[in-house]
Parts: sequence; structure tokens; C-alpha cells
Amino acid sequence: MSDILRIAIDGPGGAGKSTVAKAVAKKLGIDYIDTGAMYRAIAYKFMSLGIIPGKDNDAQFQDLINKILASTEVDYSKGITRLDGTDVSDKIRTAEISSTASSFSAFPSVRKKLVSLQQKMAQEKSLVMDGRDIGSNVIKDAELKIFLTASPEERARRRFEELSKKNDKVDYEAVLCDMKIRDRNDMSRQLNPLVKAEDALELDSSNMSVDEVVDLICERAKQLF
Ligand code: C5P
Repeated sequence: MSDILRIAIDGPGGAGKSTVAKAVAKKLGIDYIDTGAMYRAIAYKFMSLGIIPGKDNDAQFQDLINKILASTEVDYSKGITRLDGTDVSDKIRTAEISSTASSFSAFPSVRKKLVSLQQKMAQEKSLVMDGRDIGSNVIKDAELKIFLTASPEERARRRFEELSKKNDKVDYEAVLCDMKIRDRNDMSRQLNPLVKAEDALELDSSNMSVDEVVDLICERAKQLF
């Protein structure tokens, strides 16, 4: 039994991590941290400044990134993502930001900054944190680790519905293609790639309802708490 309960939920985009993590946190009465939103906020800042990563990001480009990062503040608290003190929660949910965040998340300086912030957030406190490298890197000693997956087609369908509701101009095939590119980026980057932590419980949500996944995680959590 533990006094604190840190639940790490990792998995590819569109697997339902945020929906599930939010509901688990609410049910258990603990905080929820969306680490993807923090990567999105960084990508939003670079995009707003007209900085887009290319194939060959030379030393000069890296220096520019590092300089901007040094004066950038990112925070996630109570469902609100703040960039340099401004609420950007709604602005970071576009298809364009999804793919730019995936590119910028491979930069070691971006990861170093956000991982260190996330580790401070998770210090001695019960919470649910979702992302790609939470169980394998950010909170290696999390009390409960979940690796949530679903087929690429099912994940693309969910992301398509989410984007369509916001009137983003999208088509399913484009969303599926972006999703596969993001999966490849996330799984193949050198630093903190998307992997299932050895001690994580793998759940395939393709044929499970949100409630079923949430109940299963809460049951496991209650056995530990
Ligand atoms: O989860 P979400 O789709 O909002 O994340 C956006 C991007 O941020 C992901 O595609 C991934 O590249 C990056 N990310 C990451 N590590 C995390 C969370 C997100 O690299 N812990």
C-alpha cells in the first residue's frame, strides 16, 4: 500500500489517453496532467514565430531553439495550458499543431525542459499523467503504469471526429496518414521514444468503452491505495 498514487498512462495518439486519464483523475479525486498539451504549447510558440523544423536542423537552428526555450514558460494546471502566462488551451488542438508538436518533441532541449517540469509536478503527489514516456522515463517509479493502445484506423476515426466537431477542415485519410507519421516519429526518436514500460499493463481500447477502461484502471488503483 502506498500513501501517494501516481498513475502513468502512455500510448500512441488517439488511443483515448486524455479522456481516460481525465476521468480516472476525477473519479479518484486527484490531479491530471496532460503532457502532450505542454509539447503542443511549445510547438505553438515556434509556429507563431514562423519557426518550422526541417530535415536538416543545423547547429544554428538548434541554437535559435535553445535561446527561445530559455525564455519560454509552459504550465499545465486544472485543465488549462499556459504559454508565457497566456491560456492557449483551445489554440493548440489543431491538426497542424499535432504534427508540429511531434517534430519538435524530438529535440533534446525541448524534452529536457518539459521532462524536468513534469518531474517537478509529479513530486510526492498523487496524480494521473498521460503522454508517451511517462512510465518509461518521467515517473519511472510510478505506482501504476498503463499502456493504452488501439488500432491506427480506430485512433484515426476518433481523432477525425474530435477535429470535425471543432470545424477543422479535415478528411479521414489525411488524419490516418498523419497518425501513422506521428507514430513513427514518436517510436523512432532517439531520446525518450514511445515504448511500453516493462511493468506497464497493456490495454487495447479498440473494442472497449471509455467507462470500461476507466473502471478497470480505477479497480487496479484501489488495490494499491
Ligand atoms: O498527446 P498529444 O497528441 O497531445 O501529444 C502531441 C505530441 O507531443 C505527440 O505526438 C508527441 O510527439 C509529443 N509528446 C511527447 N511526449 C509526451 C507527450 C507528448 O513526445 N510525454
